[in-house]
Amino acid sequence: MATSESMRALVVTKSGTMVLSEVAIPVPPVGWARVRVRAAGICATDLAILDGQARVQFPVIPGHEWMGVVDQVGDSADSEWLGARVSGENEVSCLRCERCRSGHPRWCAQYQQIGFGRYGGSYAEYLIAPVYDLHRLGPVISDDQGALLEPMAVALGILGRADLRIGETLTIIGDGPIGLHTLLVAKAMGARRILLSGERSTRLDMAQHMGAYRVVNHQTGDLQSLVDQYHGRSDVVVEATGSELGLQQAIAAAKPEGRVIVAGFAHGASAVIAPDAIHLPDLQVIGAGNNPGWMGRAVALVEDELLSSERLITHRFAIEQFEAAFHQLREKPTDFVKSLLVF
Ligand SMILES: [Zn+2]
Ligand SMILES: [Zn+2]
Repeated sequence: MATSESMRALVVTKSGTMVLSEVAIPVPPVGWARVRVRAAGICATDLAILDGQARVQFPVIPGHEWMGVVDQVGDSADSEWLGARVSGENEVSCLRCERCRSGHPRWCAQYQQIGFGRYGGSYAEYLIAPVYDLHRLGPVISDDQGALLEPMAVALGILGRADLRIGETLTIIGDGPIGLHTLLVAKAMGARRILLSGERSTRLDMAQHMGAYRVVNHQTGDLQSLVDQYHGRSDVVVEATGSELGLQQAIAAAKPEGRVIVAGFAHGASAVIAPDAIHLPDLQVIGAGNNPGWMGRAVALVEDELLSSERLITHRFAIEQFEAAFHQLREKPTDFVKSLLVF
C-alpha cells in the first residue's frame, strides 16, 4: 500500500495553535475503513480543543461531525463498504470488556473518540474509522445533511434520556446548534408548547420558523415570565448552554417532578444552584454529555424525511479558509448558525 502520499489536514499542535499541514494519509487496519471526507461540521467543541479547554493530547486533528466516501478497507471482508457514502459515529472501544459487552462502550477503559486525540478527525481530506461506526447514506441524504447527523444524534440522545413523551411541554435553553437540533427533534417527537431561550435574534427567528411556540432573548426578555404565561413550568427542560444562568433558568423552568437535562459543556466552570430548587419539587436532573448509539436512528429519520437540519447551515468553508471559519465560530456574527468544511 502506498503510504507516502500525503493529505491536507488542520492540526492543533498545541493550545491556541491550529495549522494547515501536509500529513500522511492514514491506512485502515483490519476492521477499519478509510473515508475520503466530503463535508465536516465545524463545532464549538473543536474551538474548546483549540483553546486548550478540552482534555485532549496534542497534536490532534479535530472534527467529529462528518460524511464522505469509503475509499479503502483494512480487510477484504469489509469490501462491501468500498464506494459507500457514509457518516459515522466516533466511538473506538475494545468491544470485548464487560462494559462494551453490556452496551456501554463509552466507559470502556480503552475508549477513544475520533477527532479528540490518537485518531484524527474530519478536518482532513481522509480519516479512518472502525467499520462498526459507519452508517450508509442513501441518496435522499445530502452531503450537507450527512455532516450534521452527529449533532442530530446528540439531540436524539438528549431527548431519549429525557424520556420525552408526545404532548409533553418543553423548554430549551440555548440557541446553538444543539439547542436548535433539539427543537427539530422535539417537534418530530410531538412535544408541545416548546419555549426556546437564546441570545441572537436571527437564531431565535429561525427557531420560531422551525416551530418553537415562543422564543425569548434572555438578554432582553424574561424566560420565567414566558414560562409562567404560556404553560406553567415544563415537563422537560434541556439546558444546552453550559452556563450558570442557563442551569439556574433550567431548574426554575421545570414543573414539579419534571426532568432537567444538562447537555451544555461548561468548559470546567462551576455554577451556584439552590439544592432546594431541585429537592423540594422532586426534579430529576440528568446528565447528557455522551449519547452514543443514536446515529442509526438519525439516518433513518432523515431518510424517511421526518427530520432535516440542513437549514441550520449558514456558511461553508474550504480547508484553507480555516482561520476565517474559526474566527466566525468565536465571534458568532448575527447571520451565523452552523458552518461546514467542504472538500
Ligand atoms: Zn460537535
Ligand atoms: Zn471495552
